[in-house]
Amino acid sequence: MGTVWFDTTQVFIAGRWRAPEGGETLPLGDPSTGEEIGRIARGSAADIDAAVAAAREAMAGEWGRASAAERGRVLAKIGRLVTERAEALAEMEATDVGKPLKQAMADVVALARYMEFYAGAADKLMGETIPFQTGYTVYTLREPMGVTGHIVPWNYPMQIIGRSVGAALAAGNACVLKPAEEACLTALGFADLAREAGLPTGALNVVPGLGAEAGAALAGHPGIAHLSFTGSVATGAAVQAAAAKNVVPVTLELGGKSPQLVFRDADLKAALPFLVNAGIQNAGQTCSASSRILVERSRIDEVADAMATRYRALRAGPAMADLDLGPLISGRQKEIVTGYLGLASDAEVVAQGEVVGNAPEGGHYVAPRLLMGPGPDHRLAQEEIFGPVQLLLPFEDEEEAVAIANGTPYGLVASVWSDSGARQMRLARRLRAGQVFVNNYGAGGGVELPFGGVGQSGHGREKGFEALYAFTSLKTVAALHG
Ligand code: NAD
Repeated sequence: MGTVWFDTTQVFIAGRWRAPEGGETLPLGDPSTGEEIGRIARGSAADIDAAVAAAREAMAGEWGRASAAERGRVLAKIGRLVTERAEALAEMEATDVGKPLKQAMADVVALARYMEFYAGAADKLMGETIPFQTGYTVYTLREPMGVTGHIVPWNYPMQIIGRSVGAALAAGNACVLKPAEEACLTALGFADLAREAGLPTGALNVVPGLGAEAGAALAGHPGIAHLSFTGSVATGAAVQAAAAKNVVPVTLELGGKSPQLVFRDADLKAALPFLVNAGIQNAGQTCSASSRILVERSRIDEVADAMATRYRALRAGPAMADLDLGPLISGRQKEIVTGYLGLASDAEVVAQGEVVGNAPEGGHYVAPRLLMGPGPDHRLAQEEIFGPVQLLLPFEDEEEAVAIANGTPYGLVASVWSDSGARQMRLARRLRAGQVFVNNYGAGGGVELPFGGVGQSGHGREKGFEALYAFTSLKTVAALHG
């Protein structure tokens, strides 16, 4: 797992590493082999209490008093340290999540970029003056909310920490981070780099542990002022209910069933890499994965053939082999995905990639599959599979394309492939999604671009300046001076 320079069995609270309150640990698994390669802390409600208390103290102390420029400076330094330790962080993430090394390296670059972006944004977060009745001066202040909770999943720990903790710190909050029990190493590494960069004590606290224990304790904690959650719909609904008891606002990012719409006037050559990569990146375990490829019927065979050629060349293997795909995160995730694959007949598999012969037996590998046949109402077309599975869906015209695209409970990302400017503009408005891409997909992750969903994809926006607004509380000051 590369160079791990900290003790993985500890929690990070009030600027110090220590054993969790209960002294218990959980297994640290390697998805590429299925083997246990270490232990991590099993944080408890008591650790979350201590972390929230430390964060409150930070708000009342040095961190709460830091100027916006000082906050920016420390974030910039964290970003530089992330870049200096890029190799170690990438190896850790690749081992822990099972993602190919080049993807893990791209995640390190994104984390550093989030730090850079939010470092620069910290002192540009402004209120406004509002014209009001004669004799008044009215202005708004964007104030930190206080202690923010961050529950992070296992698929992109570094990227999600970057967008959520980065924005919260820039806005002046103190954070309690609960990484996923399946993959928490880079969250711990990040905390240590923040300490090294001089982030004041208590401004960032990290408590690994089980969702039902540390996670539930954080979601229902009366001491937090905001909760940011990325993960499944069921857990998102549960954390929102827990936070609601304390009237704590929640940002939910819950994945999707994101479509790409390919029209007869699309540039297929340009589209092809995006069509496939958006489905198999991170072995399909991506909230914004494009699992539905909608194609105008006159081109469905052409698109299916072109995608099939790519699929047949895809190889899944150990993270460190750095192939197209790694394993899935866990045996449980593999069961979920193979369960879905069982819903399709052999005739419906257009093409599949392969798991390399020397992939360890115990690793959680699934060969990527391209399917066609199940209709838009089929479970394969409706439910988030969270594995390397894409479904081709033909449509007759624009009207039907929009109906299919918008016909799931989700709405995270969508893309339109077409040369017609009018169609691009029409569909950008009609597609039900938090982000719509025209003749591309994902814009390379776009740290600057507000991101989030509608419907069961969640609510609230992360990334860009929108995240800063979400992590601040707006105060209106109205002074009557005559
Ligand atoms: P999950 O939503 O249960 O876990 C995500 C995070 O929430 C983890 O840190 C976990 O410890 C925590 N958590 C779990 N139960 C909790 C609770 N009761 N209170 C507070 N926190 C809790 O997701 P999962 O079980 O790891 O994966 C299941 C499915 O979720 C996947 O198959 C996939 O469909 C979806 N998922 C989506 C994303 C995404 O990026 N949107 C990420 C991971 C998983």
